[in-house]
Amino acid sequence: MQTPWIIGNWKMNGRIDRNIALINAFKTFRLPEKVHIGIASSYPYIHQLYTELQETSIWVGAEDCSQFYDDGAYTGEVSANMLADCGAKFVIIGHSERRTYFSENNDLLKIKLQNALSAGLLPIFCVGETLQERESGQEEKVIASQLAILRDFADASMIVAYEPVWAIGTGKVAEPEQIQAMHQFMNEEILSITGKRDKIPLLYGGSVNADNASIILKTSCVDGALVGGASLKADVFMRIITAATE
Ligand code: PEP
Repeated sequence: MQTPWIIGNWKMNGRIDRNIALINAFKTFRLPEKVHIGIASSYPYIHQLYTELQETSIWVGAEDCSQFYDDGAYTGEVSANMLADCGAKFVIIGHSERRTYFSENNDLLKIKLQNALSAGLLPIFCVGETLQERESGQEEKVIASQLAILRDFADASMIVAYEPVWAIGTGKVAEPEQIQAMHQFMNEEILSITGKRDKIPLLYGGSVNADNASIILKTSCVDGALVGGASLKADVFMRIITAATE
């Protein structure tokens, strides 16, 4: 079995003092060696987290990166190179909140994936269908069209996260059977798109918490979890990490 991944996504949360309190709480736990752990934070706190977590095995990451790669006149933008310079090791690309609020589409996400890889960051590429798409039986078609951009990244190291939009921040978790069926479909789809034999780790995300983590992480074809709200509570996040060791 591959080493599982537990990645926290803090979204637009955090303050310097609150981050310190959360990090100090993490540091009181004994982190398991056999779990890859990461926290994605808003841009201003990446270097703080990098500095504070340097002596732990927790990776720091970003929640997005710019479509622009080289330094230049792009006011307000943060490049993948800057993220790497600040200590980020990974970056979430294509989160559904970015797709929804910023109309991010395949053309843009392809550029962002390329930028992340060029800067040496590990991309966590998110895909997911809306409730309406699932209820109309379109979920596989939607996921296949989102995954299609991987055609250009056949040899790239990356992670893919399946995050049904209807399960993000709603408390409504996909059933293990739904997760397993979709992850199996995604494994087959990625193989057929890229012709790649090396397995891409597939994470599930959507209302993962301390109570449901164990069953989700034991579901076949699930290599870890992308955790939003629950990653903002040290004890809950730690229980999710512990569930990954079972
Ligand atoms: C997420 O933001 O990626 C996520 C899965 O959020 P939550 O766990 O809060 O549903």
